[in-house]
Amino acid sequence: MMGARRLEFLLASLRDGLPVHYPISIQTNGMLLTREVADLCSRYRVSVSVSIDGPKSVNDLFRLGKKSESTHDSVVAGINVLRQHPDSAFLYAGLLSVINPESTPIAIYDYLKSLEAPSIDFLYRDGNHSHMPYGKKSFESIEYGDWLARLLDVYLADPAPPRIRFLDDIIKLSLGGHGVKEGLGDAEYGIAIIETDGTISKNDTLKSSFNGADKFTESWSIKFNELADVFRSHEFKGYHYLQRPTSNICKDCSYLLICGGGMPLHRWKIGFEYDNPSVYCNDQKILISKVISRLQNEGLKVASRIPIKNA
Ligand code: SF4
Repeated sequence: MMGARRLEFLLASLRDGLPVHYPISIQTNGMLLTREVADLCSRYRVSVSVSIDGPKSVNDLFRLGKKSESTHDSVVAGINVLRQHPDSAFLYAGLLSVINPESTPIAIYDYLKSLEAPSIDFLYRDGNHSHMPYGKKSFESIEYGDWLARLLDVYLADPAPPRIRFLDDIIKLSLGGHGVKEGLGDAEYGIAIIETDGTISKNDTLKSSFNGADKFTESWSIKFNELADVFRSHEFKGYHYLQRPTSNICKDCSYLLICGGGMPLHRWKIGFEYDNPSVYCNDQKILISKVISRLQNEGLKVASRIPIKNA
């Protein structure tokens, strides 16, 4: 939205301050992704991932323009700029899709794969115990877990799949490895957001908990504060610690080292704050138990550090 000239200033400034191998990536809906922008990203070694939920009928349920118009064709046009660029192998990092549990996993998978994405990231929809995510009836229901378990079957049956980070992480964690995705496993993520006016805030996904949940009480800004000082502060450490589950249900759960208790935004409940299992707890149990069972059926040894109980 800032246009090519200002984007170049931003990317040149970032590259000037960061080592050349330091990854910089842009997540975009792709609608303003022109060849000129792609050339800039290539020059400054910035990879691009595009958000699209599926074919037009699925994507346009939630991803509409300002006048409620379809965005699908413009998004695909942006994806095609990446696919056709001479530096496509570097530039086109992948696709990001928010799950609609009412869609058919194989149809979404086949469609996104047809866009030749090297990697597809699937996300749980925003929501919490006080505001159930779209398509989820209750804490006990498993619409998302069932959808992901069916996606897993499609994924494992494909001899040439794109990478699906969410499933790969659960598989790796089940085998005793490490994940890279926020909200899974026991890895720590120190996500800080720098707003366009320089304000430093928490992970913006927290906004869905309550108004202001993503704000620090301190008014930090990169105009006046050193990031290193902010990260050393008591308040930032408290925010960072929020990622670890505090609920006794999670602490006693046999899947904790794989599930991680979910992302903080999914744990929120009015009156109890973040001291709850993820609202997707039962979905996670269905998916993880399916992953473990598929691994065992293949004769693979599930990590011994993970005590297995039936979901
Ligand atoms: S499966 Fe449920 S109880 Fe277990 S760690 Fe995940 S959110 Fe917590």
